[in-house]
Amino acid sequence: MASFSTSSTYCLSKNVVFLSDFSPLNQFPTQSPRRRFSKKIVSMITQPSSRMPATTGSVDLMVKSWMTMTEKLLARTSEKLHVVPGENLWVNVDVLMTNDITGPGAIGVFKREFGENAKVWDREKVVVIPDHYIFTADERANRNVDTLRDFCNEQNIKYYYDIKDLGNFQANPDYKGVCHIALAQEGHCRPGEVLVGTDSHTCTAGAFGQFASGIGNTDAGFVLGTGKILLKVPPTIRFVLDGEIPNYILAKDLILQVIGEISVAGATYKTMEFVGTAVESLTMEERMTLCNMVIEAGGKNGVIPADKTTYDYLKDKTTVHYEPVYSDEQARFLAKYHFDISKLEPLVAKPHSPGNRALARECEDVKIDRVYIGSCTGGKTEDFMAAAKVFLASGKKVKVPTFLVPATQKVWMDLYTIPVPESGGKTCSQIFEDAGCDTPASPSCGACMGGPRDTHARLNEPQVCVSTTNRNFPGRMGHKEGQIYLASPYTAAASALTGHVTDPRDFLQ
Ligand code: SF4
Repeated sequence: MASFSTSSTYCLSKNVVFLSDFSPLNQFPTQSPRRRFSKKIVSMITQPSSRMPATTGSVDLMVKSWMTMTEKLLARTSEKLHVVPGENLWVNVDVLMTNDITGPGAIGVFKREFGENAKVWDREKVVVIPDHYIFTADERANRNVDTLRDFCNEQNIKYYYDIKDLGNFQANPDYKGVCHIALAQEGHCRPGEVLVGTDSHTCTAGAFGQFASGIGNTDAGFVLGTGKILLKVPPTIRFVLDGEIPNYILAKDLILQVIGEISVAGATYKTMEFVGTAVESLTMEERMTLCNMVIEAGGKNGVIPADKTTYDYLKDKTTVHYEPVYSDEQARFLAKYHFDISKLEPLVAKPHSPGNRALARECEDVKIDRVYIGSCTGGKTEDFMAAAKVFLASGKKVKVPTFLVPATQKVWMDLYTIPVPESGGKTCSQIFEDAGCDTPASPSCGACMGGPRDTHARLNEPQVCVSTTNRNFPGRMGHKEGQIYLASPYTAAASALTGHVTDPRDFLQ
């Protein structure tokens, strides 16, 4: 911690509230709601906020107590007027997502508990996305996709994004790719709703002002049968990210900063609500990066208030009516953190924890063997655009193998069609080729989670990798002795150009 205490200190305001000032969260459920907050916390959480007032319609007009966004989301979907942290609720689920790695297990629970001939509660609210172990000869992995297909055919599931031809992903027009990005691109992420999924990074969808959280197969089996889930209302920590974002900083740096500050257990079963001028300035894809990694701090969910950026993104993606909710000005927050982003420097998370934060420039002595750009965290169109920007600025070739795995088929297409700004009309794919990167691979989770041994770009040797993914635990990308440095696409591209962990300012300024 000491080696990077400087950066963490200057990015926090003086009146920051440290979690360690408060009662441990695990005492929460046993305390009565009225006694839940200490006097000190109450004084901190009732500070006036500059946030927009709540606009939740009838619910707001009728409640007698103030609520956070997440509390309102869960109140609405449990058909209650008012809820408090720690309360257990039966919540009506708007969307259940499952994928090839967990779906067969959830289907098994559903069949076991509801019967072989049971029907899912709503064929239009179940979204099934094969994405994890797709481009592999592994028979068990292939069988998982077959299981999903059989189930979706049997149940007439409306949103099943199938892949049959594993040799050519483009021959599968329905195939999307990484579930969390596909969910957004296909319009399943909508403000004011509840989305649960059998994948821990389901929290990504909180970027849309949705309650979005990963659940286990047992819960998912029950949701398949009933459309309901029993949830405990999490308390909310508010992160106010203000200041102009420097041109060498991306949302990945913001979330690494936050996790480094509160630790990988700092938000266990809590909501992480992100507000502030820096958050408001983020695109939807960058907001998704921010919410994607709340689970790395233990967060139950992350949320960002919906605004014009959200509505613009959704315009051509859904016709479903949605109704955003916002935290009341007087809502109670467990803690508030304030960060001045204008002073943030590019960060990495060193092996083997997403909370092992360090300044990129402090790690320049770390030689690397490869770079990986991909995943639900760092495999979106804008992530590749950011990497291309660094390659373009340098005009050099990469010094280590640089693997590119677009999250979805749409992202892959974007790499070949969208001109990179100030490039004279070049696409990302052309810039990557000029820089000597690997050809963009078939969209999927790829090597983010290791996968079968024949997975493209899997870490099969004990190598050092700079990666735009979200986890760097031992073995995460394959080899248990591999070392993964989590970084932004800027930092990943800069590191590819030098062969060691590199601050992107070396190329962007
Ligand atoms: S890209 Fe990685 S983190 Fe994201 S869903 Fe796939 S395996 Fe999980």
